[in-house]
Amino acid sequence: MSDAAKALATTAGDRESGCALATAVSLAPGDTFYSELHGEEQKHTSCTLCGAHAERLLFEVEDTMFGRPGKYRLVECQQCSMRYINPRPTTPALARHYPNDYLCYTNFDHEHWLLRWAFNRMQQDQARRRVRQIERVTGRLPQGTTVLDVGCGRGELLRRLKNDRQTLGTGIDINRDVVDVLRRESGIPVLHGTLCEVGCESASFDLVTLTEYLEHEPHPRPVIEEVRRIIKPGGFVAIEVPDISGPPGRWFGPNWWQIDAPRHLTYFSPKTLTQLLESSGFEVLQVKRYSMLTSMGYSLLQAMGHRYCNSPKLLYLTLSALLGLPFVPFLSFLPDFMMVVARPRQAAHLALPPQHDRA
Ligand SMILES: [Zn+2]
Repeated sequence: MSDAAKALATTAGDRESGCALATAVSLAPGDTFYSELHGEEQKHTSCTLCGAHAERLLFEVEDTMFGRPGKYRLVECQQCSMRYINPRPTTPALARHYPNDYLCYTNFDHEHWLLRWAFNRMQQDQARRRVRQIERVTGRLPQGTTVLDVGCGRGELLRRLKNDRQTLGTGIDINRDVVDVLRRESGIPVLHGTLCEVGCESASFDLVTLTEYLEHEPHPRPVIEEVRRIIKPGGFVAIEVPDISGPPGRWFGPNWWQIDAPRHLTYFSPKTLTQLLESSGFEVLQVKRYSMLTSMGYSLLQAMGHRYCNSPKLLYLTLSALLGLPFVPFLSFLPDFMMVVARPRQAAHLALPPQHDRA
């Protein structure tokens, strides 16, 4: 990137649009620059699914969780319709966007007891639902199933699987504090780092889970290819991500509660996630779409201009649940999440009988 373009990106464009990048500035994939408005290094990328460099701006989004300054561009690839943030913070710059009070790392220890109780209850229900949705495809997971949970956070899913199914779980997370707590409290082995860094053995897991994780990955394809390498023949991968193509994602646009920029960098639809899996050697077995109680309420609050970062947490989350109540009878028509289960595709000449008939 030229010095002139760099100056444009960090001065006029920032001041006028609140965005890291004025449209007049042409950046090539891989270019990095410093955004004074955001106070961070940012990087331009090509499409994270097909690699094309042909995108259109959908809208600008902001960090409503922590209220950091600046807006980000949410773009759509004109080749494959993948949606992603571009440009986005570089990997080192992303670290500050994940403080220990981010939702997947906190248990609201220092908050009101009601919030702590509701959050723990929600996490337990969520873990039960995830096990149920995975077993719709895999059948009941037998004792001793080897499970790797990528982006395990506080380990609710691994604990549930260990307690209810006696699985042999391993977690991976980038947050050192959360890794230490989970190791100490549960005895579950937890690796610190990213999946591509830790170097798991090939064909070593029956089940790999990535729940509310892949949308955070700057480059999801290498992660899925690594999953393909470490999964056993006949094993399964279960991926849960927000679905931007559902009604809430379409209706609320930049105010949809799952925008969560710049922690969410990729916004999947069933089509783009299926394309990613199939082009990485997987066969998709299930796409289960669903909604949550707070989906509509949280998005409505944001559309009315109320921000999580500017409100007491207990009040905001209670209001979002109350506002969501009238939509409960219609939630099956308002999906904005999906659980996709897939398994490695066997080459025709290598076709093997299933390792275990779990259906
Ligand atoms: Zn693309």
